[in-house]
Amino acid sequence: MIRWLLSFLFIGNLATAQVTVDPERTSVSDGWWTLEVAIGLDRITPYRVFTLDDPRRLVLDVEGASFAGLDAAALLSGDRATDVRFGPLRPGWSRMVVDLAEPLVITEAGMVRTDAGADLTIVLERASAEEFAAAAGAPPDPGWDVVTGFDPDAAAALAASEDFIVVIDPGHGGIDPGAYQGGIKEADLMLILAAELAVMLNTQEGVQAVLTRENDVFVPLSARMTFARQVGADLFLSLHADALGDADVRGASVYTLSSDGGDAAAQRIVERHERGDLLAGVDLNDAEDRVATTLMDLARARTGPEGVRIADALAAAMQAQGVPMNSRPRREGQFVVLTAAGFPSVLIEAGFLSNAQDRAFLATPEGRARIARAIRDTVVLLAR
Ligand SMILES: [Zn+2]
Repeated sequence: MIRWLLSFLFIGNLATAQVTVDPERTSVSDGWWTLEVAIGLDRITPYRVFTLDDPRRLVLDVEGASFAGLDAAALLSGDRATDVRFGPLRPGWSRMVVDLAEPLVITEAGMVRTDAGADLTIVLERASAEEFAAAAGAPPDPGWDVVTGFDPDAAAALAASEDFIVVIDPGHGGIDPGAYQGGIKEADLMLILAAELAVMLNTQEGVQAVLTRENDVFVPLSARMTFARQVGADLFLSLHADALGDADVRGASVYTLSSDGGDAAAQRIVERHERGDLLAGVDLNDAEDRVATTLMDLARARTGPEGVRIADALAAAMQAQGVPMNSRPRREGQFVVLTAAGFPSVLIEAGFLSNAQDRAFLATPEGRARIARAIRDTVVLLAR
């Protein structure tokens, strides 16, 4: 049984050039007994491919390529695959995820040089649910989940510093774009807000701000937490602007960890965020942050109440800055990024992209500056 297939073909001079994907030679289609994935590229490039269970999906990572020009609906024909998604995964790599309608295992995967450049072909054949489960799994490559290439020496210097370290976590990124409404992508907007906030915080004496991602790349939730621990975070701020089915729901709210599931809206938002890790192939059950050991509970008993006080202060400061607030500006939810034990963590829903007024507010530098000023005013008090 082929558990997974890896191809790291290191050929000189590939590193910087963008690999072009040809939509005409790219498809996901049924054969007689098979599902065939064909990717037309303009040159040979490293790739890796594997399947994951729950839900069943094929994951294809290609170095140097961008799938951005592809139309998912146009690629797909037949019944064995139900959906195709793609986006940046980590610096220099893109991911394609194909949802499988039935258990299909990889029987063939190869890249060949052609006149047009290179053709990557993956063939999957029908199998039993047991065979699929046995074959599924991401390649065990510990180097793969490194966060953003943040310099370990810089992280150590931050951890050793006397300064108040704020880890700003722009939600989503890469294969997980978050909400997308009215032409605005949550992942992009939160990166902009995070960068503006970092600039504002870094002008404060005794405060240093760092970002969990600085590009449109996917960073697993657990890796964001690991990063925060490495830099010795004094405060972890996750930034979001999600979408709900109800376009009337509006206004900013500040979340802290709940011991139960929180309210219904919080649960829907939590599910959306964990889906990003599912798409990218991260097994959330393995995330150490979700393991409620006695030691972590003990540490949380200290940082938990601190997080609640900070969240209360943040909500009040946002209100004072004229940020449109939700009817319940303080909420609780079981977000992975709120489960840290060593430092207080809060999640800010800056507004809802599903609401036109919130969208208009967040789209302006003036609107975002109000949020940033509220956070700055709170951090300055904490840093004293
Ligand atoms: Zn979000």
